[in-house]
Amino acid sequence: MTAHIIDGKTIAAGLRGNVADAVHRLKRDRGHVPGLAVVLVGRNPASEVYVRNKTKAVIEAGMHPFDRNLPDSVGEDELLALIAELNADPKVNGILVQLPLPPQIDSQKVIAAIDPAKDVDGFHPLNVGRLGSGLPALVPCTPLGCVRLARTVHPSLAGLEAVVIGRSNIVGKPVAQLLLAENATVTIAHSKTADLPAVCRRADVLVAAIGRPEFVRGHWIKPGATVIDVGINRVSDAAGKSRIVGDVAYAEALDVAGAITPVPGGVGPMTIACLLLNTLRATCEQNGLPEPAV
Ligand code: NDP
Repeated sequence: MTAHIIDGKTIAAGLRGNVADAVHRLKRDRGHVPGLAVVLVGRNPASEVYVRNKTKAVIEAGMHPFDRNLPDSVGEDELLALIAELNADPKVNGILVQLPLPPQIDSQKVIAAIDPAKDVDGFHPLNVGRLGSGLPALVPCTPLGCVRLARTVHPSLAGLEAVVIGRSNIVGKPVAQLLLAENATVTIAHSKTADLPAVCRRADVLVAAIGRPEFVRGHWIKPGATVIDVGINRVSDAAGKSRIVGDVAYAEALDVAGAITPVPGGVGPMTIACLLLNTLRATCEQNGLPEPAV
């Protein structure tokens, strides 16, 4: 069997196009232009690349970027003052603080200071609680992308066995909550799980969010299962050339799985597309408009 490759790049491009169309209608019919503020502290090269890509995508979607860059030495009070300013600005509908933050700043305090209605990363405790309670919430972007990719294979996830490897607050736990909300039967596995291969073999939908290159082997996968690989791991080959691989041994998995996301080109591109979707949703909610059908 050769698995169907879930083309995250194309699916994300479609979602971005749909968001851009909805933004165009919102502007034409209501005069609203969604605004996203991305706050970057310091000069972490990886963070700078992420922020540049986000800003480009925001502009392409017809939204307004409100990027704010602060020096590495910034104090917590100054950052909290900026968050308060953005919370109060009606042109800013979404706020994202690029993590990690320098050590003098308490990330949790900063996240909790963001207006939950503008928390497009879905990390505010109120949104985390709403998701856990099955209430409408702004949901973290990567987990949202994972479930949207799984639904391209299974329009209904109801009754399927889903196994999520990883229990981080930014990926594993919210993916599991979203799958549960879709009526899958969900198991969360982690580093203390006994007989992980056997647990994985139960899964109709297997989500790997571990951070270990090619950790999930082909024989751990149930034949025909859908595999969503969240991992982004940089490895070097014998010649010292570096490349990105996922958390799943892709070549092995291709022979067993029914469908699989590649790395790169699977979950990664969905993250920014879902950030745009969250910004659009937040804008509609803040203006008393119905949820956009995107
Ligand atoms: P974390 O390090 O926060 O969490 C990793 C999870 O994997 C933990 O719950 C840990 O278990 C579990 N784990 C570690 N080792 C094992 C093991 N041997 N067996 C079973 N479980 C194990 O990582 P993140 O959730 O932040 O990220 C996971 C991966 O996803 C990374 O590769 C990251 O780069 C990628 N990522 C990709 C994104 C994208 O846009 N595509 C966005 C965000 C992340 P325990 O809790 O017991 O320690």
